[in-house]
Amino acid sequence: MKMKFCLSCSKELVGRTDKKFCDAQCRSTYHNQNRPQHEISIQKINSTLRRNRSLLAHFSPSGKTTVNKEIMLKSGYSFEAFTHIFNFKSGTYYFCYDYGFLPIKDDNGIEKMLIVQKQDYMDTLNFNPWVSIWER
Ligand SMILES: [Zn+2]
Repeated sequence: MKMKFCLSCSKELVGRTDKKFCDAQCRSTYHNQNRPQHEISIQKINSTLRRNRSLLAHFSPSGKTTVNKEIMLKSGYSFEAFTHIFNFKSGTYYFCYDYGFLPIKDDNGIEKMLIVQKQDYMDTLNFNPWVSIWER
């Protein structure tokens, strides 16, 4: 009988002849190591978006809240990542799923985030990337 070896750890496999791995752990190790680079990038961005969303929800459990940008940065907020944007006269809101914020400055020039929850009517807003936000 031909010997077979685990594709992950190369230990000899015993038992069923269609086995490729010792166990579930070897299987998942193998698949993680062989994930294409773009899948790894996607997962990284997804987890950043989720962390951003959790932080927004944490600091604004209900309604609107204003939080210092520095506090959010220290908590691990990543300003590069957002799922969508909404342009209003008051400015551009950056959303992570159902939470978003408007970058504002207080009277002393301190940078803050006005955190808001997504409202139903926002789903009906049409976004046209070919129109400059300054023309709206
Ligand atoms: Zn193995």
